[in-house]
Amino acid sequence: MYPVDLSGKKGIILGVANDHSIAWAMASILSQAGARLALTYQGDRLKERVTRLAGTLDGALVLPCDATDDQQIADLFDQVGDAFGDISFMVHSIAYANREDLTRPFSETGREGFRIALEISAYSLLPLVRHSAKLMTQGGSVVTMTFQASQRVFPGYNVMGTAKAALEHEVRQLAAEYGDRNIRVNAISAGPVDTLSARGIQGFTDMKRQHAKTAPLQRNIKVEEVAKTALFLCSDLSSGITGSIIHVDAGYHIMAV
Ligand code: NAD
Repeated sequence: MYPVDLSGKKGIILGVANDHSIAWAMASILSQAGARLALTYQGDRLKERVTRLAGTLDGALVLPCDATDDQQIADLFDQVGDAFGDISFMVHSIAYANREDLTRPFSETGREGFRIALEISAYSLLPLVRHSAKLMTQGGSVVTMTFQASQRVFPGYNVMGTAKAALEHEVRQLAAEYGDRNIRVNAISAGPVDTLSARGIQGFTDMKRQHAKTAPLQRNIKVEEVAKTALFLCSDLSSGITGSIIHVDAGYHIMAV
């Protein structure tokens, strides 16, 4: 338990697939801090697992949301509005690329694969922020998840690096657009964490080893360290921060060799 009190605060977290998801670590810590949560799942295949996990949190709602479906997004916010009235944070922890586009040379990324990766991993932030803003009547905080492949070449990240570059630019544009409503938009750039999505990246284990060797802190990060940063960003402790990419990567990003 950390000394941050989010009692009376409500928010939405997208991106729980299982108990290894970064979104689940965030949900756990935000719930422990007293926040009431709406968790979403993508597709019926994940419904049971997310519902079971949400059952361990106090008063959590569980709702479907496929980020490629505008109607599902609208329904999500209608239902959250009815249940919560307002919200003070929204966590976007979702990404997707076709496996074949993460395993072949980048230049061979197909048109459709490029569109899918960018739509789910980057574009989706826009409608989600637009809808969130209507419920953030007292201001609010939006947190999304990125990776350093937005800036540098990581073998195997391919189109996902392109999507993260777009996502980070969106963070700056949205922060500028919504600042007058005291809605803050930030991203956490995390070091490698073992999750379902990470398993789709070729050579992920080697990359993790390399991170630990190179990072100033000489180790990999723990998922709880990402969650603690989300807690900070969703709380008033970070009231002066918007449009930022906050690195939770044991310092890896500062190193040249
Ligand atoms: P994860 O597989 O647990 O989570 C990815 C989530 O995206 C899943 O819940 C999945 O259902 C959701 N998703 C995919 N397509 C969707 C769609 N159409 N609509 C709604 N949701 C959809 O993996 P994770 O590692 O926890 O990933 C969460 C975020 O963190 C991603 O943005 C990822 O790129 C980012 N990230 C991960 C790492 C890492 O090493 N794991 C590092 C930096 C950033």
